[in-house]
Amino acid sequence: MAGIYLHIPFCKQKCHYCNFFSIASLKQKPDFLAALKREIAVQKDYLKDENVQTIYLGGGTPSMLDKEELNSIFDELYKHYNIHPQAEITLEGNPDDLSKEKLKMLSQTAVNRLSIGIQSFFDDDLTYLNRVHSADHAKIVINNALNAGFENLTIDLIYGIPTLTDDKWHQNINYFLQTGLKHLSAYALTVEPRTPLAHLIGKGKLRAVDEQQSARQFEILMQRIEDEGFIHYEISNFAKANHYSKHNSLYWLGGNYLGLGPSAHSFNGHSRQWNVSHLTKYINEAGQAESVFEKEELTLDQRYDEYVMTSLRTSWGCDLAHIQNAFGERYSHYCLSQAQAFIGEEKIEQRDNRLFLTQKGKLFADGIAATLFMD
Ligand code: SF4
Repeated sequence: MAGIYLHIPFCKQKCHYCNFFSIASLKQKPDFLAALKREIAVQKDYLKDENVQTIYLGGGTPSMLDKEELNSIFDELYKHYNIHPQAEITLEGNPDDLSKEKLKMLSQTAVNRLSIGIQSFFDDDLTYLNRVHSADHAKIVINNALNAGFENLTIDLIYGIPTLTDDKWHQNINYFLQTGLKHLSAYALTVEPRTPLAHLIGKGKLRAVDEQQSARQFEILMQRIEDEGFIHYEISNFAKANHYSKHNSLYWLGGNYLGLGPSAHSFNGHSRQWNVSHLTKYINEAGQAESVFEKEELTLDQRYDEYVMTSLRTSWGCDLAHIQNAFGERYSHYCLSQAQAFIGEEKIEQRDNRLFLTQKGKLFADGIAATLFMD
């Protein structure tokens, strides 16, 4: 099983917190699309004719592409790759792009799953984040997407926004539950260096993010949403049974994937490569053998670390038998011995020769994984 990720690097305006590679201008869109199609063709052997079961258009804002542009990308993908007839094909979109007409147009393409960046159902939170859309419009778009036939629909919410009180966070969760959607991605607001958010907080123009508020709101979410029958299948992802994101699950289960477009990453089990995060360079170089990406062969230690980091964040847990088979006994012993202190603190639970983060442990996921790292 393999997946393809396509990075569409255009946005209407930059959100304050964003550190993804994207630009707020469509001037280079035609040149980008031509370059992307060249890269699709040149990289056709990367997945070695593996069956492609998931395609994900992320960004940036892929919903800024029109039907002809999307179909021309899909034509090129279907020409060069072995794509499963029932492949999950996800498109990320923002509410401000998803008019009724656009949703109808999307339903006439290969896209069969939508991921909408809602972030909050309150205008003051959206203003803090510098999102383009309004809270009312976000609600309308979810209904319109369902009416357009996108039953496989997920939204993103953000907690820990300084303007988001616990009461408002409860209301956001309530609203999500009322929609009847079966998948939610929820992220803590993080202040990445060199973002407008970091700059504005530094200047005292925006309120600082409070880690305790984030931790509290994450706990509220875990409690409330699991009570409603959702499975917390990855640290930031919640779904009803059989509604997991296949594409993201592929990342977390160590599957192979090809990333296309500027800044996109690829992984084939033993090496990792990443494309240049610069649109003009990407346009000039895509399709010319290896010039557009950098590549790193992973050591055994790095592959073990990657497995620990991703698996521990999931409901499948970190499998000690897999570690023993894939990396050797030294690694499985090391992993278990490093985990002992967390087992004692009830942050990790050991079951069926696997390690799982408890609810308490999920609040410290990154730090715990780092302690289990070899490298
Ligand atoms: S829409 Fe997404 S990619 Fe674009 S600026 Fe906002 S957070 Fe970044």
